Amino acid sequence: MGNFFDDNEDLKFQFEKGVDWPTLVEVTEFGYTTKDGFKSPEPAREFYREVVRQIGSLAADVVAPRSVKLDREEAILVDGETVEPEATQAIFEALRQAECHRLCVPRELGGLNAPMITYFTGAELIARGDVATMTHFSFHEGMALAALAFSLNEGSTEYDKAQCAIGKTRFADVIQEISSGAAFGSMDITEPDAGSDMAQLKAKGEQDENGNWFITGQKIFITSGHAKYHYVIARTEAAKDGDAFAGLSGLSMFLVKAYEDVPGRGRVRHVTVDRIEEKLGHHGSVTAALSFDRAPAQLIGRRGEGFKYMLVLMNNARLGVGYEGIGLMESAYRMATAYAAERRSMGKTLDRHEMIADMLDEMRTDIQGLRALAFRASVHEELSQKLQFAQRLGITVPNMDELRIASELKRHRRLARRYTPLLKYLSAEKAVETARRNLQIHGGAGYMREYGAEKLLRDSLVLPIYEGTSQIQSLMAMKDVLSGITRAPKSFATRLARARWRAAARGDVLGRRVAKLQVASLSAQQFLITRTAASKLKTLAGVPVAQWKDQLTKNWDPKRDFALAMLHAERLTKLLADEAIAEILLEQARAFPERRDVLERWLDRAEVRAHALTHEITTTGGRILSSLADAQAKAVG
Ligand SMILES: Cc1cc2nc3c(=O)[nH]c(=O)nc-3n(C[C@H](O)[C@H](O)[C@H](O)COP(=O)(O)OP(=O)(O)OC[C@H]3O[C@@H](n4cnc5c(N)ncnc54)[C@H](O)[C@@H]3O)c2cc1C
Repeated sequence: MGNFFDDNEDLKFQFEKGVDWPTLVEVTEFGYTTKDGFKSPEPAREFYREVVRQIGSLAADVVAPRSVKLDREEAILVDGETVEPEATQAIFEALRQAECHRLCVPRELGGLNAPMITYFTGAELIARGDVATMTHFSFHEGMALAALAFSLNEGSTEYDKAQCAIGKTRFADVIQEISSGAAFGSMDITEPDAGSDMAQLKAKGEQDENGNWFITGQKIFITSGHAKYHYVIARTEAAKDGDAFAGLSGLSMFLVKAYEDVPGRGRVRHVTVDRIEEKLGHHGSVTAALSFDRAPAQLIGRRGEGFKYMLVLMNNARLGVGYEGIGLMESAYRMATAYAAERRSMGKTLDRHEMIADMLDEMRTDIQGLRALAFRASVHEELSQKLQFAQRLGITVPNMDELRIASELKRHRRLARRYTPLLKYLSAEKAVETARRNLQIHGGAGYMREYGAEKLLRDSLVLPIYEGTSQIQSLMAMKDVLSGITRAPKSFATRLARARWRAAARGDVLGRRVAKLQVASLSAQQFLITRTAASKLKTLAGVPVAQWKDQLTKNWDPKRDFALAMLHAERLTKLLADEAIAEILLEQARAFPERRDVLERWLDRAEVRAHALTHEITTTGGRILSSLADAQAKAVG
């Protein structure tokens, strides 16, 4: 009997000490007012610990032993219906029986009301067993919680103050069906001609004379596309002239029931599963191509708000991928460590050879740094979502007046927004690197199927692609940071000055090293914004000086003005992630001196990277930008 939670000291540290439990439990139970809820943090925490231990045991004993079967026996399409292999069915039955699909759903809707951090910890554990299983798992409860979040956002959820519980919510039946394990959902965005560029989406949402909505179009690469409930993004509005984002503002979000099981008639389908995609890896998760031919749909929110609703769903999904990456890395690292301790070469085991020892050390350090970031990012996101819930529904939280709720909500939202793309980016990229190193450490055996190292590498390769590619995460992180500077240049200058001062201060060596990393990151940002502003200034030739302020703070054309920053976005994102992780690890090292070692190892690697990255950002890119400009000029002329 194994347990992926109990055998992992670093994970246990983050779960026990990396979370501000008193605040999280208090907010989860709305100041201990919720019906049938916990009345103090300690019993709640014990319950949550038991929950993740139970998932740890399922991941070790039910998921991991089936990972080879999951890789080799894929789902098939029979008469338009997807038949999952026995291994998938057994795992999902065990997860259902253990009530894993209703962990974080509010009690009054049939759930256990545990905080999302229990779900995310579970995500890492299940992904360590088999990452594709985790992906399919996330389209269960994650979709039920999305239904609640959508309803909250559109204003169709009401709180019964007398009962201290949700009184009414639009998708209650969907939430209950999914959380009981009887159904699951999917998120249908991608089309043959539109992936990262959502403005090109073509699937249509149309309304008949009675106001009923119907969807027509094609979607591809849809994870768990054999689901009953589909959140579909479709175009309802024509593009407006002169609006750069017209392509996005014409999108709306819909809920489509793919089929209904009608007594006497059997299954009546509204959405056709055209095929199950044949993939390089990730075989434990179905990826499907779908057709909609006037499929009945329910509009979520208002017309044109599809992109906004997609972002609501995306935040948790990107965090989920962050945890998936860490789970996969943990599996690869353990496989590599075990093999390197056994296999002998030139008179000693592999782990005694300098290069291999260095690789293993970096793998371990990456996992620990990323896990610290993941916990921080997801707790800020969770607190911001819950405080928003309280604010929108007018729930009074004892010890928190409206003003405090508003300011805490703003703080948590800002930090979640900062950390989330960094986590998605770095976890996905490092999962690939770690899986590749595991294979390399196995030598020829790594290339053979029976060892499982090649499966991890194949499985890892999708992580930088789905839920927003690595490049899209980088663009988001870069734009957030640079536009933040244009909005508040003085506060940026103060941050840089303070970091420089801390980097030169005597005393705390680790604090000084982290400050130097911050200076490197802020200097790279300063360089990019200065160069960006310089290009913008060139465009001001002929514009009256009186209009410069407006031109400098408004009217940014991301395609023209941010070219250099876009070229270096991925490098900047690596710097931002290194900086964020170092800050979190420093805080933990100050509170728990036994964690100094993790920070020191992180800094040893990050300092060298920062040096190389800032050098690349400040000295390269000119040649590519000129050749792109030439190509553009030729295309226009
Ligand atoms: C296994 C799997 C499961 C999936 N599950 C789902 C799902 O459940 N639902 C769903 O809707 N979709 C899903 N997808 C689709 C996935 O989200 C898209 O593949 C992804 O968004 C990329 O879109 P694309 O494939 O069209 O690539 P493109 O958008 O064509 O991108 C190709 C390459 O160009 C880069 N690129 C694109 N634009 C830019 C830019 N402006 N600057 C720099 N680089 C850029 C990308 O990063 C990428 O490297 C899944 C895909 C896979 C492989």
